[in-house]
Amino acid sequence: MPSEESDHESLTSGFARALGVPAGEEIRRYVTTGQGGLPAGATLLAWDANSVHGYVFDTTNATCIRGASTRLREVDATLRRGRYLELAPEQILYAGGGSGMAVLSAANAEATEARLHEIFAEKTRIATCTTAAIPLLQEKEGFQGRVQEVFRALARNRFLTGSDAEASVPFFALRCAVCGHRAAAESVSRVAVPEGRPECEVCRERIETGRASRRDGNEPSDFQDLSDHSEGGFYAVVYSDGNGVGRLLGQLKSPLEYMRVSREIDRLLGTTVRDLAKRYDLTGDDEEAGEDHPRPNRGRPPGRYQLPICGGDDVVAILPGEVALPFARDLVRALQAGADASPVLGGATLGACAGVAVSNVKFPIRHLLTEAEGLLKLAKRRVYRDNVRSSLSFSVITDGSPRAESVTPERWTRAETETLLSGRPYCLEELETFSRRIRVLRNALSDLGKNQLYILLRHAHAGPAQLRSHVLYQIGRREEWRRLVQDLSGRDAGILTDPSACVEAVIPEYGGGE
Ligand SMILES: [Zn+2]
Repeated sequence: MPSEESDHESLTSGFARALGVPAGEEIRRYVTTGQGGLPAGATLLAWDANSVHGYVFDTTNATCIRGASTRLREVDATLRRGRYLELAPEQILYAGGGSGMAVLSAANAEATEARLHEIFAEKTRIATCTTAAIPLLQEKEGFQGRVQEVFRALARNRFLTGSDAEASVPFFALRCAVCGHRAAAESVSRVAVPEGRPECEVCRERIETGRASRRDGNEPSDFQDLSDHSEGGFYAVVYSDGNGVGRLLGQLKSPLEYMRVSREIDRLLGTTVRDLAKRYDLTGDDEEAGEDHPRPNRGRPPGRYQLPICGGDDVVAILPGEVALPFARDLVRALQAGADASPVLGGATLGACAGVAVSNVKFPIRHLLTEAEGLLKLAKRRVYRDNVRSSLSFSVITDGSPRAESVTPERWTRAETETLLSGRPYCLEELETFSRRIRVLRNALSDLGKNQLYILLRHAHAGPAQLRSHVLYQIGRREEWRRLVQDLSGRDAGILTDPSACVEAVIPEYGGGE
């Protein structure tokens, strides 16, 4: 991470260059305080891609999804370098996740906005972006007020420009076999379809890009490769989003703070997700397949995850069903810890929410993504209602499942006196406690399969008294339950003479002792 000093230097020279003036005291002060005047013509430009998800996920083809996401990351990287916009890199405050901000002169604003629209059209053909440029006037709220104004302008312009540039297709046209909705442009021969299949230009380009780039962790080209069984099995979408990021960015006073904080959030997210993927053994890397490996993409086993979206404070990861929930839990925990430890973010309490949708590997990815998004919204609701820092929700989706968003979680529908049978959406601490207890149960009970869990659940549904007698029955009958009670309570065999304490150890928050 560059030091604050060097960021200060670079941003000052960026402002000076934008305005065609020497880097004087006035500019220096504005960069660090956001207060004071700037030479006339100083302009703040912001951009944001429209429907990134629409572009990345309008297909079920894993290579095509990877290619789309690679192309969007190339747009970010190109814009960050500035040259395409005919700006110096020092003028770019931030570029990532399809959005960004730059400082420039009013005279260049229109041409630069046009270049922004052009690069999205060139790289994606269908994804578009919204732009807004406002003068950096002197005002009481300083730079902070200007940032809020440029975001308001962006929202207004987005409403005016609408979403992606999709041409309508005449009913008789041959459709693309990859996305299924655009008109096919040509027949392309692929490994899986040597005789050729109709593909639209957008899909063809995305697949070419996807084939050329296996990216971090050697991302697989078939979702079957990342399912949790060699045939069939389950895969999952984890959709995560930061909490408090918008509020934090809205509070920043100076251009320098804005630049450092938004870059730091982007960096934190990227390193946290990738480190975690390694820890979960999801990347295809092995000992000798490091950066110097002569054939980095061939001969390596494919990784077991895809990272289609990872920018700003947004993550969409596709991974094996069996690890998805623990992965999301640890991701949220690691993001919290990373934010706390970061000197740049120090003091701001940032959290994260995650929606985890698990399903059979044959279930279409875009529906799974929609479900994960619905679950993420439910998790967000928990944050707002109960003022918790981070939260998660999850669901196993089948063809017949109702949409996650159409079902109000039991948490918000039950009467005060009724027992809560599902904790979803969980706050982070609850989910961690829950996982820990399941782990202890698993370790202690040799036969804790689905069947035993269902029996426990059935007794739980029947009420506290019923669950209590089931637990006591098991303790009386089986040695491993007696050990479990001691493990959970941390007490010796003496606890076994106290039925209420035994029940309390197994189900601490569920009517124990009555
Ligand atoms: Zn297509």
